[in-house]
Amino acid sequence: KTELKKSLNKLKSDTLAQVDWAGTNYEWSEKVESTLKTTFKNNTFRPKQLSAINSTLSRQHTIVVMPTGAGKSLCYQLPALVEQGLTIVISPLVSLMEDQVRSLKNKDIPAMLMTSTSPKEETNAALNALRDKNSGIKLLYVTPERLAKSKRFMANLQKCFSNGRLQRIAIDEVHCCSHWGHDFRPDYKYLGILSNMFPGIPILGLTATATAHVINDVQKILNIQGCLIIKSTFNRPNLFYKILEKPTSNDECLNILENLLKRRYKDESGIIYTNSIKDAEDIANGLRKVGLKVGCYHAHMEAEARSKVHMKWHEKTYQAIVATVAFGMGIDKPDVRFVIHHTISKSMENYYQESGRAGRDGLRAECVTLYRMQDIFKVSAMVFSSVDSMDFLYGMVKYCLNGHLCRRELIAKHFDEDWGDSDCNKMCDVCVSGIGNTKEINLESHCQTLANILDNASKQDTKLTAQKLLDAWFLKGPVPLRHKGKEPSFSRIFAEDVIAYLLVDGYLTEDFHYTAYSTIVYLKKGPNMEVVYDKTFTLKMPVRKYTKFEIDKAAPKQLCDHEVTKSVKRPSSTEKKNNKKSKLIIIDD
Ligand code: ADP
Ligand code: MG
Ligand code: ZN
Repeated sequence: KTELKKSLNKLKSDTLAQVDWAGTNYEWSEKVESTLKTTFKNNTFRPKQLSAINSTLSRQHTIVVMPTGAGKSLCYQLPALVEQGLTIVISPLVSLMEDQVRSLKNKDIPAMLMTSTSPKEETNAALNALRDKNSGIKLLYVTPERLAKSKRFMANLQKCFSNGRLQRIAIDEVHCCSHWGHDFRPDYKYLGILSNMFPGIPILGLTATATAHVINDVQKILNIQGCLIIKSTFNRPNLFYKILEKPTSNDECLNILENLLKRRYKDESGIIYTNSIKDAEDIANGLRKVGLKVGCYHAHMEAEARSKVHMKWHEKTYQAIVATVAFGMGIDKPDVRFVIHHTISKSMENYYQESGRAGRDGLRAECVTLYRMQDIFKVSAMVFSSVDSMDFLYGMVKYCLNGHLCRRELIAKHFDEDWGDSDCNKMCDVCVSGIGNTKEINLESHCQTLANILDNASKQDTKLTAQKLLDAWFLKGPVPLRHKGKEPSFSRIFAEDVIAYLLVDGYLTEDFHYTAYSTIVYLKKGPNMEVVYDKTFTLKMPVRKYTKFEIDKAAPKQLCDHEVTKSVKRPSSTEKKNNKKSKLIIIDD
């Protein structure tokens, strides 16, 4: 029965999605258009905004999925002005709500805010606005805990509803309902009562989390199964994706950053992400020593110091901010030209969000990740205790090791989308180096060598870290741990790739050990290693290509300089190419 219900709901969602919601012949269309221009001072809608607005004005429950910065707020702010009555906006972050209410008031739109820390007068005014038929209030922002815990609020909201003044309920960051989302908030689960409590009132959920899993869960929790889902593509055509070899020594690493900031990104703004407070401070200090102006940002700083750093970066006193992932919410600088990851992110979702802070203005920007095998263990030692986190991390590692697929293809997979190299326009290092002429090497004998080394070590009651395993492989370190074969003829970096490849494919696994001060990560044989002595066993690894990336020349300004040569070669695909061109300008398909 539940299966049937599920299929029916899916069918309902799919059918709704077939409708063209972007029409301009609705009874409200004229008002929508004029409000956009006169009140919001925007000339055109961004992709899918109009669909979201028409759908919610049709009183259809809707979930809007758009990348951060795409313009989700307008999808409930504008409809609020088109109809009588008021819109409730539920949002988890007080500072973002304050920003919105301020900016609405600047546009002469009556808006209010109610949080658990609001002063009494403000709370009373908001409660009155719910009851008072003559209150002109259009948008009331509340935190989920306010809604969940305040009987008085709910009673007043009931009154508002029975007076016919409750227009719609918008739920921002709606993924917070779901345990599967990256930032579950317990208070969000109370929101499930709304659809029954206020029949006929459209619910509009908004999020930048696009996984089907989370969206399904959200529909269930809010009790709006089968609702319309409006999703814009997550492709960011103006971002160039690049993996750069990370040197093992800190000095060499600083040197690369120095070069990037002084030459490739001279006079441009950017962010350098690290995964620890110590790294953030060390790198910021190192860069300052060579005359660069950078700020440092992490969770252990006082709020005041943090906003000062943010400000200095905004006004270009600082060229870059060296930050932990604490630097995230509320960054609205449009001209971020580079985001450098000094350490890999803990998941593709995180990587997408962090790197996505580049290029909000639509101009070319670069997302460079410094990758070295050793960093896998730095990150895994931090995240391994939480569910699924190792899979997420390995997804990120696969992205770094990848040398034969367009990087966009890997990002798309994460969002259940399907983009290929045609959506990339050579805006990733793999596409630049040419897809299709990838070399593959056989890993069978390497697997056997590594299995031998690990078996031999465990006979001696010795655990091996990745570095020790590499040493033994290259006939270095303690003699009893070395294998009997020849020294490999390839580089250590290449060998690191093999080990990382075997790790994410389950031939090796991580083994965590705790000391008082840190977590040590050893490697042991993984479940797949059992088959490596079978005659039929084969395993191939596509070899990464190390493409040219001139860190001491200014970064290109144009989006893509390959388009012209492409069209000369393949005149038959003009139509396809035109499609592609338009993708360069808009964020949507
Ligand atoms: P999101 O919630 O999706 O992250 P926001 O709603 O905060 O995005 O919008 C991001 C920025 O885009 C804001 O500065 C907003 O004013 C701007 N914006 C939204 N819609 C439009 C539009 N149609 N035209 C121009 N700018 C827009
Ligand atoms: Mg938002
Ligand atoms: Zn590509």
